[in-house]
Amino acid sequence: MSRRKKHKHSQKQHHGGSHGNKASKKGPAPGHASHGPASLMAGALVFLAVILAVVFLASRVLGDVTITPSSSERQIIEQTLRMMESAVRTGDARSYLQSIDPSDPVFEKEQQNWAEDLASNTPVAFSLELAESQVRFDTQGYAIVDLTMNWEMAKNRTGSAAGRSRKITYPARFFIVPDGPALYAGRAWERLEAPGVLVLFDATLDKPAKIAAELYPDLREHIQTGFELKLSKTQEIKLYPTTGLLQASIYLSYDDPLGGWNEPGESIKLVGRPNQSTDELRILLAHELGHVATFTLGSHVDDTPWWVLEGIAELASESFNSRSKHDHRMVRSWVEQDKLVSWDQLADFRTVTPENMGHVYVQGHEMLGFVSERFGRSLRNHWLKLMLTGTTLEKATAEALNLSFDELDQQFKASFVESN
Ligand SMILES: [Zn+2]
Repeated sequence: MSRRKKHKHSQKQHHGGSHGNKASKKGPAPGHASHGPASLMAGALVFLAVILAVVFLASRVLGDVTITPSSSERQIIEQTLRMMESAVRTGDARSYLQSIDPSDPVFEKEQQNWAEDLASNTPVAFSLELAESQVRFDTQGYAIVDLTMNWEMAKNRTGSAAGRSRKITYPARFFIVPDGPALYAGRAWERLEAPGVLVLFDATLDKPAKIAAELYPDLREHIQTGFELKLSKTQEIKLYPTTGLLQASIYLSYDDPLGGWNEPGESIKLVGRPNQSTDELRILLAHELGHVATFTLGSHVDDTPWWVLEGIAELASESFNSRSKHDHRMVRSWVEQDKLVSWDQLADFRTVTPENMGHVYVQGHEMLGFVSERFGRSLRNHWLKLMLTGTTLEKATAEALNLSFDELDQQFKASFVESN
């Protein structure tokens, strides 16, 4: 199983896009060639020009344009949906990805990770249904229509909801290639662009979207200082209106509760609420930006212990989170009662048991805090970078901190006695 570890924020719960730059993808997608004598062609072109002018004017006023449903466009989209269904039902990631619009690299990466899970977790039922509603077109020429996804897994990731059928409905985007198929481009989002950040959000989440964009510059500064690096890429943040929609965007078998998500090359994904507070969003974003920064250190994410990845992300949000003191008291009581979970039981996302999941975050957070205080920020970052570039925990600890991991663990435990 090649599925990588996953890094999800635990709020105890315990844890569109930029448009294409390919010239062929610009402009209104659904072009129709006229057929017939030249005079008819000329008439048709005038008619088409009038229609386009009306569409253009309407788009200036309304943003999106609603066009009388065209049976041919629906048929083209339906053909793509049937191909997607067939690929998913047979666990065929490669075929599935042939139906994906490749113009947004972030969406493409998210879909690659989504499809990668299909082979080992092929759903026992899967269907895609278009709503009867009209096909709309956005200002980039993408067709938008509500889509319902129904599926059922033989086993979900936590094993808790096996046999339960799941269902989501959302406005889906399709690029209709001239004379070609429709390509699935994911959810149709509202967009908010600000310096360094692009927030894509559900229409009900305009307030948290605005807060996230306003928080971003200071949080980026906070993370850059902590990790001693620069985050130069425009950060994409997606705000989902429900946990179910966020879970389903990760992959079909994913059913852990979560408040946020990030993977290398993916957007920061958060579950939003219309009345979400600035404080809550700051904690969620700081944690996920901690992951973003960690992933810039190296590509060996799968080889780095999961508790290290969550520990540094928890540390990144620590100063905004009133839970931090609680974590410290909890770990002290675990040390005193000999209830710490061994670090190797917290290392692999795929094998950590549900009851140990909280320890990944809380123990990880405390250990990362301990290393930072005892050895300083720069050695802590060097230790992280060694692991993210393929050095084992044992060797990275020896090289960066000049002791064995077992010695580090002993010092960590002793620190709770010292500070008593
Ligand atoms: Zn996380």
